Amino acid sequence: MIADNTFIADQFSLLAKLTDIHGGNSFKSKAYAAAAFTIERLPQQLADLPAEKMASIKGIGDSVAKKIKEIFDAGEITALAELIANTPSGIMQMLNIKGIGPKKITVIWKEMGIESIGELLYACNENRLTLYKGFGEKTQKSIQESIEYFLNNIGSYLYAQIEPLANNLDAALKKNFPEYVFLSTGIFRRQLETIDKLEWVTNTPAAALQSYLLENNFVTEKLETEESVFQGKDENILLHFYHATHENLYHKQFTTSCSEAFLNEWNERKLFKSVVNYFSEEEIFEEAKLSFIPPFLRETITVIDKAIHNNLPGVIQTKDIKAIIHSHSKWSDGNNTIEEMAKTAIAMGLEYLVISDHSKTAVYANGLTEERLKAQHAEIDELNEKLKPFRIFKSIESDILNDGSLDYSNEILAGFDIVIASVHSNLKMNEEKAMMRLLNAIQNPFTSILGHCTGRLLLSRAGYPVDHIKLIDACATHNVVIELNAHPRRLDIDWRFIDHCLEKNVLISIDPDAHSTDAFRHIKYGVLAAQKAGVTAMQNLSSYSLGQFENFLITQHAKRSI
Ligand SMILES: [Zn+2]
Ligand SMILES: [Zn+2]
Repeated sequence: MIADNTFIADQFSLLAKLTDIHGGNSFKSKAYAAAAFTIERLPQQLADLPAEKMASIKGIGDSVAKKIKEIFDAGEITALAELIANTPSGIMQMLNIKGIGPKKITVIWKEMGIESIGELLYACNENRLTLYKGFGEKTQKSIQESIEYFLNNIGSYLYAQIEPLANNLDAALKKNFPEYVFLSTGIFRRQLETIDKLEWVTNTPAAALQSYLLENNFVTEKLETEESVFQGKDENILLHFYHATHENLYHKQFTTSCSEAFLNEWNERKLFKSVVNYFSEEEIFEEAKLSFIPPFLRETITVIDKAIHNNLPGVIQTKDIKAIIHSHSKWSDGNNTIEEMAKTAIAMGLEYLVISDHSKTAVYANGLTEERLKAQHAEIDELNEKLKPFRIFKSIESDILNDGSLDYSNEILAGFDIVIASVHSNLKMNEEKAMMRLLNAIQNPFTSILGHCTGRLLLSRAGYPVDHIKLIDACATHNVVIELNAHPRRLDIDWRFIDHCLEKNVLISIDPDAHSTDAFRHIKYGVLAAQKAGVTAMQNLSSYSLGQFENFLITQHAKRSI
């Protein structure tokens, strides 16, 4: 294929941007940008021109002409290929995001140390961009919106992101086809943390469904008697419909609401007596003589044994949560004052609030120096007088430093009611290094809660590698609680490892890591993840009543004096 002008112009435009990002010669980058502009508007194709004529075109010149020749000869500009090789793929992706040019990307990469879109989005959510020159609140908001748009177009969503669309669609389908049944199923029904399709079982005729969805911004991917799939035009989500008859609707809902492993085990044990004439999922369980296994638990096969022995956990509900543990105020990088946070918690019927702003090493997040801590603690004392019987606890989200130590001297640490320890810096590390830092922090008698233990950001950053089993065992030995960070992009610790926590009697704490009062609602997503692991209210620290929490602190403080 011969490169056309549009392709060549794009190459120079990219070369200009990357030259700027890498701090190259600005005259050169301007020349490349000008060349891109000129080439795009040329009346004739460069491929049709003799090489010696190119350099004489205004806006091109010798150096650019040479590079055009490289494209024709080798398919690429060497200088550009080199720059691309030296740029993290996340930074390359950022170039596709509206509203951030090379200048801003340079600051994001070199000053903020952010190398992926997911991290950038998280930094926006945490209000971190506004601390840098050239990034006002408006810019931050528009970057955030552009990133969300970009990520949505990739086709996977956080559960919390897709939830409103799922609910609206469900209501719209039921309203439009009142004579038919729509049963939610699949991964959304199982409350998985990321969702790439929404699934229903229905007895609606496929053709009728198709014409309705075509009118409503979806295109048909597959239309068959067994199942139909539609792709959203704006929202890049797949809708998957399993067609059923009136008689086998619930059988189908059951089989599509289980993980593969679970369903295989179910079949192996011959728990189905028939495939039709169930008129609820409950009937299927009754017939199999098992207690009802809610869809969110239908992941592993062990749950079937628990159901046979009538031993299923009574899982935690959002209403069981009695406190906000892990929250940030304006003292570090939060949006609200402590008083605003406390009053919102009171209005929600909660009993206490744990304020855990960032520690001093987290300069990017306006972490608290020893002097500012004193002032913050005085403010909390005053508020505690004023807001009785509600309690605000003095906490800190202490950075776990490179060697695994906490961020303040023991004297300062002793001034906190409770310490949450989290890794925020130097996230690129191997398992050995990560475990060394984490285990040291866990062994520290001042650590009561291990915050977001892998640092993962769902759909955007994998998190550093850890040995979950070792980590959990160490928390059991040292009486440390493991946070289930409820931010829908974190949900860290992964629910898949929580059964080991429960086995070892390690408490979980469902914490919103709230940077604003609005983020208190994230608790719900932590609860959904905890339900998948079969966590009960009493296995979760944030469902402790104020009295129980105070007793818990006494046992934690006892560790400090040993
Ligand atoms: Zn954190
Ligand atoms: Zn935090």
